[in-house]
Amino acid sequence: MVRISVIHGDGIGPKIVNVTLRILEEVSDLYNLNLEFIDAPAGDNVLREFGEALPKSSLEKIVNSDACLKGPVGETARDVIVYLRQYLDLYANIRPFKTFRGIKSFWRNIDLVIVRENTEDLYRGVEDLGPDYAVALLVITRKRTERIAKIAFDLALRRRKKVTIIHKGNVLRSYLYFRDVAVEVGRRYDNVDVEDMYVDNAAYQLIINPERFDILLTPNMFGDILSDEAAGLIGSIGLTCSANISDEHGLFEPVHGSAPDIDPEYANPLGQVLTGSMMLEWLSYKKGRREFMDASREIREAVEKILEDGDTLTPDLGGKAKTDNVAHKIIEYIRRKLI
Ligand code: ATP
Repeated sequence: MVRISVIHGDGIGPKIVNVTLRILEEVSDLYNLNLEFIDAPAGDNVLREFGEALPKSSLEKIVNSDACLKGPVGETARDVIVYLRQYLDLYANIRPFKTFRGIKSFWRNIDLVIVRENTEDLYRGVEDLGPDYAVALLVITRKRTERIAKIAFDLALRRRKKVTIIHKGNVLRSYLYFRDVAVEVGRRYDNVDVEDMYVDNAAYQLIINPERFDILLTPNMFGDILSDEAAGLIGSIGLTCSANISDEHGLFEPVHGSAPDIDPEYANPLGQVLTGSMMLEWLSYKKGRREFMDASREIREAVEKILEDGDTLTPDLGGKAKTDNVAHKIIEYIRRKLI
């Protein structure tokens, strides 16, 4: 049995997570993955009902599972995901952005991954607020920079072998330190190209020439901001997925938030569905089981097919389809293909 803890989250979360679970159940049966799903309630609704956003019982279920599938949470994001990142030391945030055939975007061949340090920088949350001042501490350490750099360079070896280190070393020496430590790690990877770039230039290059990027290695805050920009480039933030990993744990969530401004019946579930695919890929490496990789690919191909067909798209992609129509089409496609 492979145990998956599940946070349904808030807003559109429960809807798109349920769609994802239906699809995971489908591939679990087809590929004999033996997935077991364990509810780990967390978020705004849970805070209202139980007085805390991440109850201890949920935390224990997450710690004891093989992986966690998380939907977006609303206002309590800080108490849930920021806490979990620290508690489980989920130091690597991996966010792939790839253009899909059939989806309108400014560029055709974007295929980049943001590898974001997930535990320090300004988001470490060491702050002091007085009556007429506010201060936040920017923390960059050698150990944490080295380990995230290693993740980025290892990933580059499986891709186009290029890492761009993002920083703002012309203004803050702390970011120069991030760059220097990352460059040192890069010297161990003879066949990977390394360059570094100021974050403002990276924001510009993402708009005018995003196809030049393979891996962007970033400190915490810059990775957060550039991710939304990259999501805009591929057509919709509703298509984006991400992994938060440590050496032991993996937590998978879409890049977007709970989208309280839209009707959940029309939410795009594909980013969340792709988190399921990403989770299976990670489990495949972790457990050394090939069938997980095959199932992961199956889901991804189904998503690509639906986007290419273009007749079952949610409103964020210019269509009229409901979330359930998309789910139905994915399952139909997977079943038909495997008969
Ligand atoms: P957060 O601060 O948690 O990231 P947010 O509301 O600031 O949340 P997002 O939730 O990422 O930002 O949403 C940005 C915009 O994209 C919103 O207008 C939202 O409705 C839309 N959006 C986000 N996710 C989806 C989705 N899955 N399907 C359709 N629209 C979405």
